[in-house]
Parts: sequence; structure tokens; C-alpha cells
Amino acid sequence: MRDSIARRAVTAATLMAVPFVILIFVFVADVRIRLLSVAFAAAAVGVGWIMAESLARRINALTAFVDTMLDQEDTRPPLVHDDDELGELTRSVARMTPKIGELVNRLSMELTRREAVLASMTEAVLAVDAQLNVTFCNHSFQKAVGDHGAAQGIPLIRMVRDPDLFRVLKQVVDGGAPVRQRIQLSGRSFDVNAALLANSTSRGAIAILHDVSPEEHLERIKRDFIANVSHEFRTPLATIRGYAETLLDGGLDDKKNRRKFVEIIQANGIRLNNIAADLLTLSDLEAGRPEPEPGPIPVADAIMSAVRAVEPAARLRGLTLRVGEIPDTVILGYGIRFEQAVLNLLDNAVKFNRDNGEVGVDVARRPEGRVEVSIWDTGVGIPALDLTRIFERFYRVDKARSRQVGGTGLGLSIVKHAIEQMNGTITVESTLGQGSRFTIALSEYTSR
Ligand code: ADP
Repeated sequence: MRDSIARRAVTAATLMAVPFVILIFVFVADVRIRLLSVAFAAAAVGVGWIMAESLARRINALTAFVDTMLDQEDTRPPLVHDDDELGELTRSVARMTPKIGELVNRLSMELTRREAVLASMTEAVLAVDAQLNVTFCNHSFQKAVGDHGAAQGIPLIRMVRDPDLFRVLKQVVDGGAPVRQRIQLSGRSFDVNAALLANSTSRGAIAILHDVSPEEHLERIKRDFIANVSHEFRTPLATIRGYAETLLDGGLDDKKNRRKFVEIIQANGIRLNNIAADLLTLSDLEAGRPEPEPGPIPVADAIMSAVRAVEPAARLRGLTLRVGEIPDTVILGYGIRFEQAVLNLLDNAVKFNRDNGEVGVDVARRPEGRVEVSIWDTGVGIPALDLTRIFERFYRVDKARSRQVGGTGLGLSIVKHAIEQMNGTITVESTLGQGSRFTIALSEYTSR
């Protein structure tokens, strides 16, 4: 039998009644009195049992109610309120129930909201306890450390091999002061903000990690760009200065060479001008300034205009220009940018050609409303390793040759930006020593 109030009451009443009956049996000889004492003792035990049983039932009902306090109201057992102390306790529990329900609801909603916020944060979030075991981490953190298994409860050092983060969190847990630091994690850079997470019963730390690798990459590109620009300007400027000084130091009287000196100064002046103009175009394209709406460009007109512009240079090198049949089509884009892109590609095809070689333009309509414009040449070609890099700013396969033919190293960069701004693509195929083919693909213009 389970220990209960009723059993205890029966035991207590029996223990009190038995000595009383024994005393009667010892000192009273009258059988009727003896029987009466037995009946009286049995009745006392019975009444005690009934009262205790009723109390226990009410307590059990209250227990069942408290157990289901947070369930739906209609699934909870009813509460019986009597007018005694237990009734008062029952009423008090009934009054508390809706308040506790509301509090629990609010807490669980708050918890859900926080979990959703933390889970969807692009910043990586990590919380640890005093022993540096993970107590929470979001998806971004798992992605950053490349671990997608269950994280809760496992030692941080098992999840993250780089010791920097471990050190930062240990410093916070031990010292209590917040720490800000840039660390390396799985080959990326993170700005870490770590702070103590403590209450009266537990101590730990929380860290928010912001991935700064893209910013660092951008800064590096910017630094490289400035270094490249300075370098590009320095050479022609030094040449101009050198030859100007030579002229001033008596070169003006050197009838044989003075014209050559001035021509060199002029060529370098033009070169500086070209670099500045290309940089401006590139900066315009990269700024992504809202252009006017793209419009229809008659392909044949734009291509023929670019071909005419390179004709004199091609003739000078004995190159044959082969323009295939151009379908009567119109593409969607920015006319000036498209013409400039074709011109830059034709210009390269002429510059990096062999004497008496060929330069050609093919235009073809492709399915799904695309138009492909290919500019090909029979020139020096591009090594396979350089093919992925030639669209970078200032990248040249053969620096000396590019300079010699008046290149700035910015032409293909401009072409790529211009074409991508028109939602087009540019690809290149090349065979070293045989020639190259650049292909631009753009959307055909349809008047709806
Ligand atoms: P550049 O002003 O030097 O022509 P570009 O950005 O136009 O600069 O081209 C980058 C480099 O790509 C060139 O220096 C050259 O090495 C290579 N290149 C571009 N077009 C051709 C081509 N048609 N044939 C061979 N090499 C080319």
C-alpha cells in the first residue's frame, strides 16, 4: 500500500485506541463495557479514516490540477473549493493558473523569437559555459567552422581547431571584461565581440563573429589598384621628365635627335591621357550609376562603325579585315558602350596580330533571343593560364609588348564591365601562336 494520509491517520488512531481498549480489558470485568470500548475504538479509527481519505482525495484532485496547469483549460480536471484551509489553497492555485500560463506563453514566445533572430543572423553567434563547452551556436557559426553536427554540450576546442577563438572566450570567462579582436578562423578573418554571460547560478561567454574577409579582400584590391595606377603613371612621367631635361641640357641644339625626343614626350603624354581616360571610363562603369534605360542597338551599324575606326591601323600592318554577313538584328543595351566594347576587342585583335594577318567579326543569332558577336584574329594568342586573368585591371600577358603598342591594360576590364552592365556575357578562346576569339552574347531587342 502506498504511503498516504489515510493510512497514517488509521495507524495513529489504532495506536491511540489499542492501549485504551487494553486498559478497559484489564481493569473492567463487565463484558458489555468491554464490547462498548471495542466498538468505540473501532468507530474512532473509522471516522479518522473517512476524514483522512476525504482530505487525501481533495489533495489528489489539487495535485492533478497542478500537474495539468499549463494544458488547455478544457482538459484540466475541475477544482472543488471547500470553505477551509485547503479550499483557500485551491482558490489561490486557481487564481495563479492564468497568470502562470500567460507568463510561460510570453517566455516561450520570447525564446522562439530570439532563436529565430539568432538562427537567421548572418553574423556567427556562439555561447559557451565556464568550461568552454558550447551551449549554443547558430547556423552561420557552424558554416564558418565547417561543422554541421550537433554542437550543444561539446567542448569548443573539438569544434574549432584554431586556438584564437578559444583564447578570446577563456579571457572573457576568466576576466569578465568584454573583448574585441580580429581572428583567423578556417582561413577567413572575423571581428569577434565577446562578452560575459553570467547570472547567479552559471557563468559563460557569448561571442558574435563578423566575417570581414570580403572587406579585407576589397581593401587589398584597392591597395593593389592604387599601387598599379601609380606604377602606370610613374613610367611615362619619368620618361617625359627625362627627355624634357635632356632637351633643356643641350638637347635642343641636337638637331639630329631633338625631334625624336619631342616625339617620345608626345607619345608618353598620349599614353598618360589614354590611361586617365580608361580609368575614368572604368570608374564610371564600376560606380554603377543608374544609366538611362537600355535601348535598341542596330548591331550592323555599331559593328561597322567600330570596324571603320580600326581600318587605318589594320591597313598600316597589312591586316585583312573580314566582316561576315551581319544579320539584320537589334540588341538591347547601351549603344556607346557596345560600340566601345567591340572597338576595344578589334583594337586588341589588330595590336596583338602578326603582320599581314587577319581580323574578323562574325555575328550570329542564337536560340532564346541571344545574339553572339565574335571578334577573332590570327595573332599571338593567349596562354591558357592567362585566359582567366586577362579581364583583370592592368593585367597583361606581355607587359612590354602591350606598352609598345600603346595598351593600358584596362581595355578588357572595360569591355567586361560594359557587357555585364547590359546583362551580357563575354568569353574567350585562344590558341598560342594561332590567334584568339572573343565572343560577346547579348539579348536581342524585341519591341512588345
Ligand atoms: P591592353 O591595353 O594591354 O590591350 P587589355 O585589357 O585590352 O589591355 O588586354 C589585356 C591583355 O590581354 C593584353 O595586354 C594582352 O596581353 C592580352 N590580349 C588581349 N587581347 C588579345 C588578343 N586579341 N590577342 C592576344 N592577346 C590579347
